[in-house]
This record gives sequence, structure tokens and C-alpha cells, in this order.
Amino acid sequence: MVKEIQLRVPLSEEQQQDILVIKSAQALAVDKSDITGVKVLRKSIDARKPKIIFNYKVAVYIREALPKSSEYQFDYKDVSKAKPIHIIGFGPAGMYAALRCIELGYKPVVLERGKNVQDRRRDLRAINQQHVVNEDSNYCFGEGGAGTYSDGKLYTRSLKRGDVRRIFENLVYHGATDQILVDAHPHIGTNKLPKVVQNIRETILKFGGEIHFETRVTDFIIKNNTIQAIQLNGNDEMAANRVILATGHSARDIFYLLHKKEIALEAKSFAMGVRVEHPQHIIDSIQYHCSGERHELLPAASYSLVQQVNGRGVYSFCMCPGGFIVPAATANGEVVVNGMSPSKRNNLFANSGIVVEIDVNRDLPKYEKFGPLKGLEYQKNLERMAFTAGGRSQTAPAQRLTDFVEGKLSEDLNPTSYQPGLNTSPLHSLLPKLIGSRLRKGFSSFGQKMKGYYTAEANIVGVESRTSSPVCIPRNENLEHPQIQGLFPCGEGGGYAGGIVSAAMDGERCAEAAVKNM
Ligand code: FAD
Repeated sequence: MVKEIQLRVPLSEEQQQDILVIKSAQALAVDKSDITGVKVLRKSIDARKPKIIFNYKVAVYIREALPKSSEYQFDYKDVSKAKPIHIIGFGPAGMYAALRCIELGYKPVVLERGKNVQDRRRDLRAINQQHVVNEDSNYCFGEGGAGTYSDGKLYTRSLKRGDVRRIFENLVYHGATDQILVDAHPHIGTNKLPKVVQNIRETILKFGGEIHFETRVTDFIIKNNTIQAIQLNGNDEMAANRVILATGHSARDIFYLLHKKEIALEAKSFAMGVRVEHPQHIIDSIQYHCSGERHELLPAASYSLVQQVNGRGVYSFCMCPGGFIVPAATANGEVVVNGMSPSKRNNLFANSGIVVEIDVNRDLPKYEKFGPLKGLEYQKNLERMAFTAGGRSQTAPAQRLTDFVEGKLSEDLNPTSYQPGLNTSPLHSLLPKLIGSRLRKGFSSFGQKMKGYYTAEANIVGVESRTSSPVCIPRNENLEHPQIQGLFPCGEGGGYAGGIVSAAMDGERCAEAAVKNM
């Protein structure tokens, strides 16, 4: 017999031996010796009250053996001689599209402008230390896409839990910890992600797929509204009749190329703002009601905040407990910040994007002349402003949180995890009013919701501009571009995902659509 139940384990009892078996036996009124196993289905922390509780959802096996833990089989077959599907971009969408092609018996041919994970590291060092951005290899471009040197948070708002489970199990198959299958807020960590990504690459190659690094797609050859070939590195052409376009939201050259070729695009609403960084112990003390260090069994605390300000949402985005702020620019002449954290989340800082919704239909009248690229141009302008204010390098403009809200230039700044360094700047006056004034009100109200959050010990750092794509590449019910047969816009760049998991799910969907009628 198997029974699914919820258990509440106080922090003080969490480490007690066999605590889940003991609690299950009590809850089900059975003898402890009849319980053959307890499988954790979900684990979360309830820290709303000072007495912290671990909530478990468990399956209790009574006089019955525990089954194998995976629900999905990944049936990869040799596709070396199969028909090709071309996939542009090897981020989560491209990786999962390639894996799905192999399961379906088609050969993925991946074109990726960036380098493999190992070689990519050198270019990340160059951004952090020499302030030089390699425009093909950076925090957004390269093997594994923007997801590789990230936090590896695997949260998604998707309601298709089955699909989410499949994505998670595939990550575990490729070396991620199986803890992600049960944690309410699963994450992998930037130190573990490259190995998972490398294992995915090895599966694709082992089963006959192709991956071409340092290969940027520079044109599409289209005849009679049907894709015929793709141009690589401005030179060679590669014949292709099914192309999954998974280039992410930072591939501006792809948006410009499509626009120049009069291939329909649409402006999409998105969000922009700043990254805020607190000492982690401040967030821990607020969330865990403690004054000193957090309990050793508790992870670095996180938060999620949202507030309506003058008709727009202001909210926290991609919060990284125990993490680092990173320079996520994809071109020289711009400053873009984002966040990542290691698997242990043991750095001394907590950072989070705090962003304001931008409604492209109402908020950007001065940018109308850019048509579907108006959001992109607005985003670009802000990133250039940050570059100038930061001192024309990857040093980022920053202000103490309280000075930003009170409208004062900071005399000095707090210590930071951001390696290229910070430059004190009047972000309160440099940010457009649409964003700046809403952020200031948003921060004040966050300070009321979380006592201690609004503090001079926090910095805000500009700009957090790449939250989601400002452009949508339309597609029809077959997931094909309505004008171009054989072109499948996919993942975050197409406007169909926001984060690692939803991009991966969209990659699988696009692979399934691309192989239809082949
Ligand atoms: P991308 O990951 O952007 O991949 C696109 C790929 O296409 C890139 O590798 C790029 O090099 C390649 N490409 C672009 N143009 C071309 C071209 N012309 N030719 C060939 N190749 C091309 N999301 C989360 O869910 N959790 C997190 O914790 C998280 N943290 C993040 C931290 C950072 C620092 C960053 C930058 C992002 C983070 N994200 C996070 C967002 C997440 O990484 C993206 O949502 C996700 O990677 C999008 O997947 P994608 O495959 O659609 O696009």
C-alpha cells in the first residue's frame, strides 16, 4: 500500500534519525516496522513564524517495495544517418530541442556562435578583469546559453507539471542533483551547470548529432517563402529546410536581420530596472527572524516581492541568495547586470533584479519610429547610459539604496560581489522617470513589507535590462513563422519562454513541431 501525506518537521527535529518514518508512522497510525520506505515528493521551508518548519509531501510505502525514482525514459537512438533539423543557438531551448530530435529519430545540427563551456570561461574572466566583452562569447552567448553561468534556478510558472518533471529528470540524467526533483525552489548552481551542459553535449554527439561552436548564423536564404539554407559566419551556406531559431533575447543581430528582410516581428512588453544587493545576513535575519547567523540547516534566505506603483508592476526578478552580480553585456559600450550563485549559495551577498513592467504600447511614444524594435532600442539606450555613467568600462553605476530613494548622490558605496567594480552615480536622475520613480516607491513599500530591507547597507546597481525579450517573433499553430515555411521561432528570443525551464520545454515543443510532415 502507498499513501501520500503531508508532514511538518520543526527545524529542531529535522536531523533526528528516521524522522520521516517516525512521523509517517504516527500520521498513519501504523507500526514503524511496516513502513518499507518513505519517498520525498516535495520539500519546502515555512519560515513565516519564528518556529521554522520543514514541510514535506511524502509517499509512504507500507509493506511494499519502493519503485525506481524516474518517471521518464530517455530513448536516444543513433541518428547519424537520419534527416537533419538545424538548430540555431545552444541555450536551454536549443539543447532540449536537440535532445528531443534524437528521441524522435532526427539528427540535430546545432550552430552556436559561442565557445564550449571550458573555453568560454576565459572570456568571462576578460569581461570581469579587463572589461572587454567578446561579442560571441560572454555571460549570454556560448555553450548552454544564458543559463550556464547563472543561478540555475529552476522555477517556472508553467502549470504543465508533467513537462516540468520531464525537464528536471533529463537534467538529473545529465548529472544534476536529484534534489531538484523534490525541492520547492530547486536550483543547480553555477559551479555545477557547466558539467551538466557538457554531458548534454556528449549525449548529442554520442548519438550522431552535430554541434558547431564559434559558428554564427548571419543570414537566412529564403525562396518562395520557404527556408532553403542558412549562412554561417558571413560566408558558407548550409542547406536547411527545418530551422529552429533559439538564439535567445540578446541576439540583437538576429532581430535586426529579420527586420531588414521584412520578416514579421512584434514589439513585446518586458521589464527593466536595477539589481539590488544586500549583505546576505540582513535577508537571513528578516526571513528567519534571527539576529546572528542563520541555522546551519537553513539555506541562504531568498525573497519575492511585488508592488503595483502608478499602474505598473514593480517586482523582484531572478533573486540570487548567496550569489554574485555579474556583467551580462553582449557588446562593448553597454553595461548590463544580472545575477548568479553557486550551488551552496554561500557567498556573502544576496542580490535580486528589481524591475518595472514596460508596456510597449503605452510607454514608449518616442520610440514608435523603430516599429517592432522599439522596446529593443529603449533597452539599448538604457544600457548605453549605464556604460557612460559607470565610467565607460564594465564598472557599473551604483548608489546606496536609501540615497537612490531619497534622491541623493552616494558619497561612497557598500562592498559588492560585482567584480568589475562600481561607480557612484545619480541613478535616481539618470533612469527614465517611468522606471526610476516607480522603483523608488517600490523600494519604500518593500521596506514596509520586509522590515530591514530598506537600508543604507544595500546598493542598487544599474542596469537590469535583459529580463525577457522586448521582441516577439510570431509563429502559427504549427509553431512555424506565419510567413516563412520551415522557420520555427523558439525559446526566450522568440518570446515564448522566460527562464531555463520554460525555454527547455519550448525547445522540446519546437522539435516535435519541426519533425512533423518531414
Ligand atoms: P539563450 O540561453 O539566450 O541561448 C541562446 C543561444 O543562442 C546562446 O548560446 C547564443 O550564443 C546563441 N546565439 C545567438 N545568436 C546566434 C547566432 N546568430 N548564431 C548562432 N548562435 C547564436 N533563468 C532561470 O530560469 N534561472 C536562473 O537562475 C537564471 N539566471 C540567469 C543568470 C544570468 C547571468 C543570465 C544571463 C540569465 C539567467 N537566467 C536564468 C535566464 C535564462 O538563462 C534564460 O531564460 C534562458 O537561458 C533562455 O534560454 P534560450 O535557450 O531561449 O536562450
